[in-house]
Amino acid sequence: MAIAVIDAWSPNYNSRSGAAIDCIVIHDTESDTAAAALSWFESPESQVSAHYVIDRDGAIYRCVAEMFRAWHAGSSELEGRTDVNDFSLGIELVGFATGTYTDVQIDTVVELCVDLCLRYPAITAARIVGHSDIATPPGRKTDPGPHFPWDAVRARVRIELDRRLA
Ligand SMILES: [Zn+2]
Repeated sequence: MAIAVIDAWSPNYNSRSGAAIDCIVIHDTESDTAAAALSWFESPESQVSAHYVIDRDGAIYRCVAEMFRAWHAGSSELEGRTDVNDFSLGIELVGFATGTYTDVQIDTVVELCVDLCLRYPAITAARIVGHSDIATPPGRKTDPGPHFPWDAVRARVRIELDRRLA
């Protein structure tokens, strides 16, 4: 991709078993540093991972290749389809569901989502969802929390897609 990323590979992934990627799930790490999240993802014992982690300063870490199924959503359902890990890309923002995100993190998540939407046209701005939207049973997860600016992020992604596809 055109965006600079730092590889920090996780062993926690498996095959998508043929499922096509058509949505993005936004999370927070529930940590205040990228190092804490990355070391958790690097541990086979954690059994968790995501495709990307966005640090407070906007640095992007890549933990699982997009072609593989990262382990971020857990028990989940989107529009009647269960096991959202099969068909999603997971992005983690360093921070807490109860906290706020930095402006550069939001700029970076918009940029990364635009890049992914361009490369996977089945992902529309409406198919960028939060972990709290898809976790089952409902209420199991609260991330990315009330301070994630959904309307602004989706609007900025739409504007940028319109501009680049014009
Ligand atoms: Zn989550």
